[in-house]
This record gives sequence, C-alpha cells and structure tokens, in this order.
Amino acid sequence: MNIILLGPPGAGKGTQAARLQANRGMIQLSTGDMLRDAVAKGTPVGVKAKAVMEAGELVSDAIVSALIGERLDASAEQGAIFDGFPRTAHQAEALEMLLDERGRTLDHVIELVVDEEALVERIVGRFTCAVCGTPYHRTLKLTREPGVCDVCGSTEFKQRPDDNEQTVRTRMAEYRAKTAPILPYYEERGLIRRVDGMAPVEQVAAQIDAILDS
Ligand code: ADP
Ligand code: AMP
Repeated sequence: MNIILLGPPGAGKGTQAARLQANRGMIQLSTGDMLRDAVAKGTPVGVKAKAVMEAGELVSDAIVSALIGERLDASAEQGAIFDGFPRTAHQAEALEMLLDERGRTLDHVIELVVDEEALVERIVGRFTCAVCGTPYHRTLKLTREPGVCDVCGSTEFKQRPDDNEQTVRTRMAEYRAKTAPILPYYEERGLIRRVDGMAPVEQVAAQIDAILDS
C-alpha cells in the first residue's frame, strides 16, 4: 500500500507516519527529513536547500522529486508513506510518474484537516528525539518519562530552526498557495480520505487505521 499524508505544517503528518512505520512496517518517506539530513551533512543539495528552508519557502521540485526517486525502491515491499511530499502540482505529477515506472499505485491520499491557528502552537512547541527523530510537544505530547524518548530511550532532544512563529506563517502561506491546490487533483482521482487532525493523536491514528483496513 502507498499513501500520502497531506496537510499544512504541524498537521501531524510526521507523528502519524512514524506510528505507521512502527506498527505496520511501512516506510516513511519524508522530504523534510531528507533535506534536513542533507543540510546537516553539507551535501550539494543541503547547501542549496538550507536558506530556502530557513525562510520557510519551498525547495525546488527537481530537488525533492529526485530525493523521493532515490528512496522509493527501498519501500517497494512494505509500501510507502509520503510525508510532506508532494507539495506542488509538479511534484504530484512527478510522483505519479515515479510510481507508474515501477508498476506501483497510490492507494489513499489522507488529508489531515486542521484549524490553522492551532498549528502555530503545535509547531513552536515541537521537539524531536535527537537520535530516532520521534516527534513530541512541550504541552500536547510529552515523553512518558520526563526527558526520556519513549521509543529509543535517548535523553537528547532537538528543535528545528524553522519552527518559529515568523517562519511558520510563511510555511502556512506556501501551503495555501502551492499545496492546497493539489487536493482537487487527487479528489478527481477518488483518492482523498479526510480525517479530523484536531482530534488527539491516538484518535487520529484510529481514523487512519480504519481507512487502511477498509
Ligand atoms: P507535521 O509533520 O505535519 O509538520 P508533526 O507530526 O511534527 O506535524 O506535529 C506537529 C506537532 O504537533 C508535534 O509537536 C506533535 O507532537 C504535535 N501533534 C501532532 N499531532 C497532534 C494531535 N493530533 N494533537 C495534538 N498535538 C499533535
Ligand atoms: P517539513 O519537514 O515537511 O515541515 O519541511 C520542512 C521544509 O523543508 C519546508 O518548509 C520546505 O522548505 C522543505 N521541504 C520539505 N518537503 C518539501 C517538498 N516536498 N517540496 C519543497 N520543499 C520541501
């Protein structure tokens, strides 16, 4: 099964993708994570992407489509969860081509429907495990044991440089202008499934499970 998790920054895509990867063995393909990794390693892609990401704007379609193309085959057996990709009409077309070339299809596009104002709070309070990347939130989703990652036991955490109010506003605007317009593309193909992204994490997960098991 191949699915897209679609929604604005902070909608809960990474949280749900990590859970599906842990529970179902599907492979999370997050272009945001791939780009942050490239920036941390100082690769040519990372050097190009760094300032764009810090400004909250979108990295070029060619760069992110190539990153997905490189990783897609690793998810052939277990299925892919596209997290943060596609974000533009060009990327949606690129994804369709990449899947077609491999005889794979898209099963569901799950839209996390959220209230934009709540997202700023979610994003400025977000932190992740520095070792395994599990996402948490200062008030909305704490670690079970204070200061210890639930998944890997690490005691080191980090915050993203672009998770500040100023950049969040730009990222929301990018979502409205460039990503939301791809919803009709998937609507026409009968692939959109909507879930209430404002529900608690476990209830969102249950709604997604119901779609995948239907
Ligand atoms: P995205 O990948 O869509 O940008 P994340 O999954 O990183 O979003 O979630 C953003 C922040 O909101 C994280 O700190 C996460 O712990 C928190 N969060 C995610 N889903 C929910 C939810 N359903 N209710 C409350 N907080 C949530
Ligand atoms: P995310 O981790 O999905 O919130 O993405 C963080 C940042 O990485 C975004 O604000 C963009 O600058 C960049 N990015 C991630 N995925 C994409 C994509 N599919 N297309 C363009 N830019 C992206």
